[in-house]
Amino acid sequence: MNKKLSQIITLFLCCILFAISFSGCIEQKQKLEEFKETLLPEVKLDQPSILPDWKDGEYHNYFGTTKMLNGFNDKYPDLVDVFSIGKSVLGKNIWCIRITNEKTNTRKSSCLIDGCIHGEEWEGGEACLYLAEYLLMNFGTNETITNILNSSEVYLIPLFNPDGRQDDSRYNDNGIDLNRNFDIDFGRIRGTAIPLGKLFGRIKIPYIDTSRLNKWFPKLVPWRLFNCGRHPFSEPETQAFRDFERELKNDDFSFYVNCHTAWHTFSGPWDAFKPPFEISKQEQYIFDYAVNWVAENTEYETIEEESDVYFKCSGEASDWCFKEFRIPSFGFELLSVDYDAFYGEKKHDHLVHWMETTLPVFMYLLVNIDNLRQWKTPDIQPPLPDRVPPEPLK
Ligand SMILES: [Zn+2]
Repeated sequence: MNKKLSQIITLFLCCILFAISFSGCIEQKQKLEEFKETLLPEVKLDQPSILPDWKDGEYHNYFGTTKMLNGFNDKYPDLVDVFSIGKSVLGKNIWCIRITNEKTNTRKSSCLIDGCIHGEEWEGGEACLYLAEYLLMNFGTNETITNILNSSEVYLIPLFNPDGRQDDSRYNDNGIDLNRNFDIDFGRIRGTAIPLGKLFGRIKIPYIDTSRLNKWFPKLVPWRLFNCGRHPFSEPETQAFRDFERELKNDDFSFYVNCHTAWHTFSGPWDAFKPPFEISKQEQYIFDYAVNWVAENTEYETIEEESDVYFKCSGEASDWCFKEFRIPSFGFELLSVDYDAFYGEKKHDHLVHWMETTLPVFMYLLVNIDNLRQWKTPDIQPPLPDRVPPEPLK
């Protein structure tokens, strides 16, 4: 009797427990539906993009850059791949970050933006990191950026010259100007480049200062003469970069931007004193269109050949890229000459302002990536967040 009673009680309790847990399930399901409903409006791609929360003065050296890139990789595993394209003279990694929606398998256009080929021009590297963060944080909420990462691969190399960045030096650790070491119009005195090498095998000679000569013979030798290396691609950094770009060529490589400071300009080829071929009419039209768009929509300017700032350079990365792959290749000089690290007195100030000035340029190129690859008019306007572009500094 007791046994039966206890069986009945157990059965009764089981029923109650089941009923409670079942009703709990329903409740949980209802809650989930409610949660989904509250979540849905945020998933819609109608949000304006927001800006990375950066602070003035917070720059990223080699180790800071490495940490930030790894942080992106951890936070956005489906959007980010971080890898090294090779090593510097001192064995530092030349990091590259690829940003794309890895879940979409369509054929994608790719593009490459790099910074700090001149190691003391920090802001070029910062601009790559800033763009990376801007794209990543707005994916999935902003339609334009989501579309960009669904259909293209954005490759960024923040520190082309990691040894130079760490030493705050223009040159790599062999004393060579990497942006004179490419195989185009190589080693021309009129392109501010000659092989200088090492004196007695010991003292590195990175440049000869001809600024005094310039006063007497202004047209003879422009600016300073930089060490271009003994032959094109003599340096591990430029070799790694050349080989990486050749791999991108098979991947619908669409445009390239080589970032510097501080001449406040955006330009296409040629910087070479002796261009190897003439730019076709259609190519020139596209270069002019893009450069003029930047001049009209941002604070950056076109290069005027008559201006004091203008001078020819040989062995440059962007000229070589255009020659080699025949894709739109640009030189982007961030900041203004007042902030130039090499010639100017001021350096590294107003970081957030300068980062915001780069976004319209990069977003313009990214929304037009397919036009650029096909040499069609890049006439799509990029939607931009509030305050961008910012008011120019006084
Ligand atoms: Zn530079």
